[in-house]
Amino acid sequence: MQLRTVLHHRFRSDTGAEFVYVATSAAILGLDAHTSAIVEAFAGPDGRDDDEFLASRSDRELSEQSLHDLIDLGVVRPVGEAAAPRAQLPPMPFPLATLVLNVTNKCNLSCTYCYEYGADRLTAGEGSKLAGKPKMEDETARQSIDFLLRSSGDRPQVSITFFGGETLLNFPAIRTAVEYAESKAALVKKRVHYSLTTNATLLTDEVVDFLTRHRFGITVSIDGDQQEQDRHRTFQKGVGSFDVIAPRIRHLIATNKARKGRSIGARVTLTAGAAPAADTYRFLTGELGFDEVGFAPVTAGLGRAYALGELGYERLLREFGELAEDYVAAACRGESHGFANLNDLLRELHQGVNKAHPCGAGLGLVGVSTEGDLNLCHRFVESKSHKLGSVTEGIDESVRTAFLQKAHVDQKTDCRQCFARPLCAGGCYHEAHVRYGDATVANLHYCEWIRGFVDLGLRSYARILTRNPKFFARFETS
Ligand code: SF4
Ligand code: SF4
Repeated sequence: MQLRTVLHHRFRSDTGAEFVYVATSAAILGLDAHTSAIVEAFAGPDGRDDDEFLASRSDRELSEQSLHDLIDLGVVRPVGEAAAPRAQLPPMPFPLATLVLNVTNKCNLSCTYCYEYGADRLTAGEGSKLAGKPKMEDETARQSIDFLLRSSGDRPQVSITFFGGETLLNFPAIRTAVEYAESKAALVKKRVHYSLTTNATLLTDEVVDFLTRHRFGITVSIDGDQQEQDRHRTFQKGVGSFDVIAPRIRHLIATNKARKGRSIGARVTLTAGAAPAADTYRFLTGELGFDEVGFAPVTAGLGRAYALGELGYERLLREFGELAEDYVAAACRGESHGFANLNDLLRELHQGVNKAHPCGAGLGLVGVSTEGDLNLCHRFVESKSHKLGSVTEGIDESVRTAFLQKAHVDQKTDCRQCFARPLCAGGCYHEAHVRYGDATVANLHYCEWIRGFVDLGLRSYARILTRNPKFFARFETS
C-alpha cells in the first residue's frame, strides 16, 4: 500500500532529541531512530509503498512495528485517504464567554501608529456620523451586562474586558458596569472576571483602588523606556507620555502586589527601529515591575514608515530567540518567566490546541461599541460592515454564522499545507481587513514570521520537556 506522512514539522531539542509536530492532530511526538527513519522515508510528495520499504530494511520486524505505531498515531496514512471530516462550526448559537466593552472611542494620547485614529482606522474620524458616541452611557453598559449574562448559556464564569480609546476616560461607565454585573451575576449564579487595557495616564489613586479591589486583569500599553515610549506614544501636542505614566504604573503595581491581585502585563507595540525586545522586556519587568510583557507587531497598511518590513520580522524572530533562552532557562529551574508571547504559545502547544478560527472573535467573544452595537471584536467596533447585532436585540445569528463559515481555516487554501495552521488559522481578522480589505482571508504577509515563531516555540518546548517536564503541569489547570 502506498503510504505518506501527513502534514508535519520535525524539530530537535538542543540535546539532539528528535520530535515531530503533527499538524492534523496538533500532537507533539518524540521520535527514536526507527520512527525518524520512517517519517523521513514516507515524507515525499508521492509517499512510498510499505512492502517495498520494509523489504529494504535489515531490521524489518522493528521497522514494521514502528510503522504500525505511526499509522495508529495518524502520522503516516494511505495516499489518497479522505481527510476525516471536520466540524465546520460548533453548535450555534455558541454561548458567549467574553464581552469587550468599548466604553469610549476618545483618547488623550495621539500615538503615531494607532489603528483607532490613524489612516488604518476602520471608521471615519471624530465628528463624523460614523464615529459613534464618544462615550458609552451607563444605560448601554447595563444593557451590555444583561446581554452577556443571557447569551452565555451554562457557563459558570464570564469575562468583561473594558477597552477604548483610552478606557479610563470613561471610568464612570466602568464602575457602573462592574457594580451592575456584581448584583446581576449573583442572581444567576455566575462569576464575572474583569480586565482592562489602559495607557496608564489616568491611573489615579481612586482608579487604582477600584481596579485592584475588583481583581482586574490589567494590561498597560507601553512601548518601553522613556526613549521608546516617547517616540510614538505622545500627548496631542507631541509631548511624550513616559514621565506621566511611570509613577502611576509603579503605584498600580505596588498596590496590586500588596492586595495579591492578578498579574499585570505590559503590551508593547513593535515598530520599525524599536529597541531590542530583550532590552525592553528587562526594563519593563526589572525597572517598572510588570509581571509579564507581550509584544505585538504594529498593524499597518503598506507604506507606513513605522511598519515592520520583512527584515523587521527577521530581526524580531532573532530577538524573540534571545528572550526564549531566558524563558527556557527559568522553566528548567521550575520558575515562571514573563515573556507572554512564548508563554501563551507553549500553553497552546501543551494543550494540543487545534484552531478552526484564529481567535474567539464572533464566536465566544464580541465587541460592543459605545452605542451598543455588537461587532466581531474591539477592533471592529463601529465598523458597519462587521456589525453582528446590538446589545438590546442580540446577535443576528445568520450574519454570525455566515462570517464564521467563511473565516474557517479550511476555507483558506494557502493554510492547508502549513504546519503552523493549528495555532495560526490564518491570523487576526482585523490585520487581514487592514491589509487586504477582507477579514476572512489569510494574513500571508507574515507567514514566515508565524512559522518561525511556532518553530521557536516547539524547540523551546522540547528543551523544557527533556529537562523539566513537570514545568508544564501549570498549563493543565488553566
Ligand atoms: S496565514 Fe500563513 S502562517 Fe498562518 S496558517 Fe495560513 S499559511 Fe500558515
Ligand atoms: S480579530 Fe484580531 S484583534 Fe480581534 S480578537 Fe481576533 S486576534 Fe484580536
